[in-house]
Amino acid sequence: MADVVFDQASRIYTPGAKPAVDRLDLEIGDGEFVVLVGPSGSGKSTALRMLAGLEEIDGGAIRIDGDNMVGVPSRDRDIAMVFQNYALYPNKTVGENMAFPLRMAGVDKSERAEKVRDAARILGLTDYLDRKPGALSGGQRQRVAMGRAIVREPRVFLMDEPLSNLDAKMRVSTRTEIASLQRRLGVTTVYVTHDQVEAMTMGDRVALLADGRLQQFATPADLYDRPANAFVAGFIGSPAMNLFTVPVTEKGARIAGWDVPLPRDARATIAEHGVQTVTIGIRPEQWRIVGDGEEGVPAHVDVVEELGSDAFLYGRPDSPADGAAAGGAEDGAENGAENGAENGADTVVVRTTGRSGVRRGDRITLVPDTEGLHLFHPESGERL
Ligand code: ADP
Repeated sequence: MADVVFDQASRIYTPGAKPAVDRLDLEIGDGEFVVLVGPSGSGKSTALRMLAGLEEIDGGAIRIDGDNMVGVPSRDRDIAMVFQNYALYPNKTVGENMAFPLRMAGVDKSERAEKVRDAARILGLTDYLDRKPGALSGGQRQRVAMGRAIVREPRVFLMDEPLSNLDAKMRVSTRTEIASLQRRLGVTTVYVTHDQVEAMTMGDRVALLADGRLQQFATPADLYDRPANAFVAGFIGSPAMNLFTVPVTEKGARIAGWDVPLPRDARATIAEHGVQTVTIGIRPEQWRIVGDGEEGVPAHVDVVEELGSDAFLYGRPDSPADGAAAGGAEDGAENGAENGAENGADTVVVRTTGRSGVRRGDRITLVPDTEGLHLFHPESGERL
């Protein structure tokens, strides 16, 4: 059991080039499950490999339980890794596969057997100990790989996309298994994935990286409710948050010719920053479809995705130039533009109930829940 600290930790593969991991700061508590998430190339694997001792630490430090790991070889760090390619030995049984790291470490036979038995019980593999990996499902093989890590009783588990070889259904069940297993064992775990759903469902806290830089380190709920910048806002949540960079008006902010009324404190915040445009974030569930004759953002629906319990509508806000009577093109809208792109609003996603009756091709009017709006600086993207 251990806490893990990344202290301004950097990795620079090519001298002079942009760091793959740039002054990363993370304080991971004892027993915590932390997920590193971000797009491909954001530095997640590099950060994990630095902690594992498989990559140099070119700047700053990484500490496990207060001990600086700079210069400490991987085998002396007391960590266990589970990778995407958890190659098991095909000619060894499940039990032998799980016992292998212990054998390498010189643990005697009876102790090996006991540890493997314990791990197999925890993982529900007791009945499979004598089978070869070839006679297991993908999910069971994944559990054997976990077992190989568990038997070592490491201070820290490191996992790099361990579910990516499984089919979609197996991924969902295995992710629940790993998360609950980690909580039972209470071993500090750092887990890498590019999948934000995996990150949000598994992690106690999630560290979101982009371009080698930490964007936000927070609980899943905080990431969702208070994204630190527009990048986080767009990355977390599926479908993604609607982000519109639009002109600020007297009354609020203008999306597709309609002034979204903003609460007083939001207007004050915008005024404080002295910006003429603002990036507004509206989650799909924060839209309400209002009736004919009511004011709101006019949109037409291109796609309706029925999921049973709810539905997602994908559409485009109608630019003021679309409607015959709309004369609101003063903010540089080009007449005849076929969508609201000139208002920074080219697509819109709405979450609604499964039986909303809205169809492809319909014109609807949308009003956002203005209390829950997210505002970001139009250039830096930082939360206002
Ligand atoms: P992620 O895991 O988020 O996909 P990586 O940590 O693998 O990202 O990579 C981060 C950046 O470092 C990328 O730009 C990648 O091209 C670069 N990189 C990764 N490994 C090496 C390497 N061995 N040599 C040079 N550059 C690398």
